[in-house]
Amino acid sequence: MLNNDCIFCKIIKGEISCAKVYEDGKMLVFKDIEPKAKVHLLAVAKDHFKLISEADEARAELIKYMLMKIPQIAENNGCDNGYRLVINQGEDAGQTVFHLHIHILGGEPLEQ
Ligand code: 5GP
Ligand code: ZN
Repeated sequence: MLNNDCIFCKIIKGEISCAKVYEDGKMLVFKDIEPKAKVHLLAVAKDHFKLISEADEARAELIKYMLMKIPQIAENNGCDNGYRLVINQGEDAGQTVFHLHIHILGGEPLEQ
């Protein structure tokens, strides 16, 4: 299910444009508008939920599906020498968009 008030749902619906690098029926991957690394992609689930703690079996399968797809997508987009995956969860992590997404960061050596 998508949400009318969510920016990532609007991107999924095509109401807001994005620099898309991959899409299928379950996920959308596009470039972060404020990149924190040379390559900074966002893998967004095509289901509106905020936290991994909200994952039921179907959502857990969706997260697994995304994790299985990400290596090829990352390699195809300049992260052939490694990358970092980040999922910010809630306020202390600085989550700003409350729709589950996985940051893919790479394209250069990342700070530890
Ligand atoms: P969070 O802090 O919630 O884990 O990450 C949200 C990310 O979404 C941020 O890195 C931010 O730059 C990115 N972002 C927010 N709004 C937009 C947008 O409209 N388009 C794109 N491409 N990225 C966005
Ligand atoms: Zn959403």
